[in-house]
Amino acid sequence: MIDLPKHDLLAKFDAVAGERQAYLDAGGRDPVGVVMSEVLSPTRAIIAGRETITMGTYNYMGMTFDPDVIAAGEAAMREFGAGTTGSRALNGTYASHRACEDALKEFYGTRHAMVFSTGYQANLGVVSTLAGRGDYVILDADSHASIYDGCAMGNADVVRFRHNSVEDLAKRLGRLPAAAGKLVILEGVYSMLGDIAPLKEMVAVARAHGAMVLVDEAHAMGFFGEHGRGVTEAAGVEADVDFVIGTFSKSVGTVGGFCVSNHPKFEVLRLVCRPYVFTASLPPAVVASSAASIRKLMHAPDKRRRLWENTRAMHAGLRARGFVLGTPTAESAIIAVIMPDQATTLAMWQALLERGVYVNFARPPATPTGVYLLRCSLCAEHSADEIATILTAFEDAAAAIGIDRRAAA
Ligand code: PMP
Repeated sequence: MIDLPKHDLLAKFDAVAGERQAYLDAGGRDPVGVVMSEVLSPTRAIIAGRETITMGTYNYMGMTFDPDVIAAGEAAMREFGAGTTGSRALNGTYASHRACEDALKEFYGTRHAMVFSTGYQANLGVVSTLAGRGDYVILDADSHASIYDGCAMGNADVVRFRHNSVEDLAKRLGRLPAAAGKLVILEGVYSMLGDIAPLKEMVAVARAHGAMVLVDEAHAMGFFGEHGRGVTEAAGVEADVDFVIGTFSKSVGTVGGFCVSNHPKFEVLRLVCRPYVFTASLPPAVVASSAASIRKLMHAPDKRRRLWENTRAMHAGLRARGFVLGTPTAESAIIAVIMPDQATTLAMWQALLERGVYVNFARPPATPTGVYLLRCSLCAEHSADEIATILTAFEDAAAAIGIDRRAAA
C-alpha cells in the first residue's frame, strides 16, 4: 500500500469514483472507457471485438479517411518529421502551419487566421486574452467548458444569459456600464441539444450595445451556409462578427483549433496569447492534413446535402419511434435523445453498443443541470442502410430495457 498523506487531494473525488465503481461492479460497461481497436471507415469501428456503427463522433463530413487528406499528412510527415518540438512563437512555425492559416483565410474570406493546438486552447487563449480584469464577458449559460475556462483565466466579469434568449441578452447588456469593454460569446450550434443560436438577432443586440462578438462555430463549420462557413454565414452576419473560433477535430477530421478575424490589430495576439505561445505547435502532418481537408470542404455541396439528408432521416425516424429529442426538428447534425435519468441512459447506451451502435453518453456538467442524453451525431458518409440499422437498434434497445416511449412522446 502507498502511504497516503493525511490531506489527500484526490479524496474530494471519492463520490465520483465510487459511483463509477458501483456501476462497473454491477456489470455495466464503462462509457468513458470505450476503445476502438480498429477504425474501418468514418462510420465503422471495432469495439470490444464487434463491428460497430459509430454515431457519436464529430466526423460530420467524413474527412478522416479522405485519400487527399491522408496523402497530405503522409508527405508532410516525411518532409518535415514527426513533430515540431516547439512553440509557434519560437521554432514551431513551419511552412505547413502558414499554409494551413492561408487555407483558413481563404475558407472564411478573412484577413487573419491563427492556428492553435486544439479548439479548447483557441477558446482558452482568445477569450482570456481579449477579456481581462475590468472587462465583461456576456455568454450563453450553455456555453462550452473551454469558453468558461477562458473567462476564468482572463479574470473578466462574467455575465450569463438564458440559453438562446435574445431578450435576456439585451436585458443583461443594458445593465452594464456603457464605457466598459464587452465581449459577447455565442455558439453557432450548441453541442449538447444540437440547437442553433438566433445569431441575426443576437449579433444585432450585441452591436447595439457596443459589444464585440465572438462566435464558436465548432459544430457548424463545413455544412452550415453556402460555403460551409457556419451559422454566421447562414444567418448573414459575418460582417458584424469580430472573431470566429473553430476546431479541426470535427468537420475537418484532424485535431487543432483556430481563430479567424478581420480585426486590423489581430496579429498582436501571437505575442500575448498564452495558450498560443506557451505550448508546442501541431505536428506538420496534422496541419498539412487539415489544410487539405479545409480546401476540400470549400467545395463540398454534395457532402453538405448528404449530411442534411441523413440528419433529417435520423431525426424523423427517432421521433416516429417515440423518442424525446432535443429539438422539434433537425437543426444541426447533432440529435440529442433525452433520457429520464442516469441509470436509464447508461442501460440504453450499453444496450445500443451490444447491438452494434455507438452513441455518446452525456450528463452534467457537460449537459445543462439534470439533463441526461444519448447524443447522436450524423456523418455525411452514413449510408441509408446504416441509418435503418441504427433506428432498429434504438427500437430493440428501448424494448429490451423497458423504456415506455408512449409515455415519453
Ligand atoms: N468549442 C466547442 C463548442 C466544442 O464543442 C469543443 C469540443 N467538443 C471545443 C470548442 C473544443 O474543441 P477541441 O476538441 O478542438 O479542443
